[in-house]
Amino acid sequence: MARNWTPDSWKTHEARHLPGYDDAQALEAVEATLGAYPPLVFAGEARALKAELAEVSEGRGFLIQGGDCAESFAEFHPNNIRDTFRVLLQMAVVLTFAGKLPVVKVGRMAGQFAKPRSAPTETKDGVTLPSYFGDNVNGIEFTPEARRNDPQRMVRAYSQAAATLNLLRAFAGGGYANLRQVHQWTLDFMGRSPWAEKFAETADRIGEALDFMEACGVDPATVPQLQGTSFYTSHEALLLPYEQAMTRQDSLTGDWYDTSAHMVWIGDRTRFEGSAHVEFVRGIGNPLGLKCGPSLEPDVLLGLLDTLNPAREPGRITLISRFGHDKVEAGLPRLVRAVAREGHPVVWSCDPMHGNVIKSESGFKTRPFDRILSEVKGFFAVHRAEGTHAGGIHIEMTGQDVTECTGGAIAITDEALGDRYHTHCDPRLNAAQSLELAFLLADMIRL
Ligand code: PEP
Ligand code: MN
Repeated sequence: MARNWTPDSWKTHEARHLPGYDDAQALEAVEATLGAYPPLVFAGEARALKAELAEVSEGRGFLIQGGDCAESFAEFHPNNIRDTFRVLLQMAVVLTFAGKLPVVKVGRMAGQFAKPRSAPTETKDGVTLPSYFGDNVNGIEFTPEARRNDPQRMVRAYSQAAATLNLLRAFAGGGYANLRQVHQWTLDFMGRSPWAEKFAETADRIGEALDFMEACGVDPATVPQLQGTSFYTSHEALLLPYEQAMTRQDSLTGDWYDTSAHMVWIGDRTRFEGSAHVEFVRGIGNPLGLKCGPSLEPDVLLGLLDTLNPAREPGRITLISRFGHDKVEAGLPRLVRAVAREGHPVVWSCDPMHGNVIKSESGFKTRPFDRILSEVKGFFAVHRAEGTHAGGIHIEMTGQDVTECTGGAIAITDEALGDRYHTHCDPRLNAAQSLELAFLLADMIRL
C-alpha cells in the first residue's frame, strides 16, 4: 500500500483543471451519495487487466484503447455504445489475425466525461462564459445556466457509466463478441470503404479456421476464448471528487481501487510533479496510463515512474506518447532510453490524436488522417530502432459515420467537415478510418 496516502490526500497538492463549485454543501451531498453507490468494477477485474498489460509490456501482446474524446449525455444511446464496441472488436480481430498477437481491448468509455481545457473561459460575439469542462461538470450550450458547474451532474454520469458498462459486459460475454459473428460486425456504411472488403476477407478466413477446428474435433462453441472477449473500461482521472467517491478498499487484499473504471490515466496537463492528480493515482491499485507529451523531460518521467510504480510491477504503467507527427521521432527516443536504462517495465502506447490537431480552413478543429498515420509510423520506427516493444494505440474514435477527421480511404475533405461533425470535444476517427488504421497497424506490427 502507498505510504502516507489516503483517498483525499490529493487535497493538499496543487490541482489544475479541477472545477470549483459554489455550493459546498451540494458537492458534499453528491460525494456522500456516490460514496454509497455500488462500485462499477471489481478490484479483481482491474488486476486481470494489469496481468494482461504485463504481457504486453513484455512484448507478448498489443493494447487497443479507444472511444470518444468526451462521452456526453446527449449521445447516450445503445446504438452508439454497440457501434463503438463493434469497431474496437473489428480492429482487435484484424490485429490478432494479421499481427498474430493477443490484443487487450480497453474502451475510452463508461466514464470518459471530464475534460481539461486550454482556456478557462470562452468568448463568443463579445460574451465571455466559463469553458465547457465535460458533461459531468457543466453543459456544452453557450448559456450562463448551462456553463455553471453542477455537482449533480456527477450522479447522472455515474448512472450513464453504469448502464454503458452493463451493456458492454453483456456484449462481451453474451454472444455478440463470439468469433462466429465476425461477418455480422460489418457496418452498412463501411461498404463504401475498400477496407470493408478486406475485413470481409479476414472474416472469411477466420470462419474457415473455425470450420477447420471443428472438423478436427475441437468444437469452437466449447472454447470460452472464442465465445466472448475480455473488454475493459478507462477514462482520464480528472474529476477528483468523483474519483475519490468511487475509491474503495478491496476486501480481498485491503488495497484501494478506484472502482469507476478498470484503468484510469493522467493527462498531459496534470502530470506535473507534485500534482494532486499524481498524488491521487499513486495510491490506487488500478493499472494507470500516463500521457507523455513533448514537454516531458526524461528525469521528470523517471521521477513519476518511481512515485507511481515503486515496486516496478509490470502492467501497472502504460506510457501514452502524444508528440505530434513532426516531433515523435526527435522527442520520443530520449524517454524510451531513460525508461529502458532504469529498467521500468512499461507498456508503450501511441496516442496519435492529441499532437495533431489543426484548425481547418472551414473553421473546424480537425486532425488529418495522414498526420495520425505518420505519428504511428514514427512511433513504430522509434521502438524498432531502440529495440523496445511498440505496445499499443490510444485513439479517439466512434462507430458512427461522422466527418471530424480529414482524409482516409473515403477521403473526408475540409469542406465536408460540417456534414456530420458531432463531437463534444476533439475530432474522432469514424468507423471506416478506424478500421483502415487497424489494417495499417497490422502491417507495421508484422514488420
Ligand atoms: C485526452 O486524452 O482527451 C487528452 C486531453 O489528452 P492529453 O492529456 O494527452 O492532452
Ligand atoms: Mn481529446
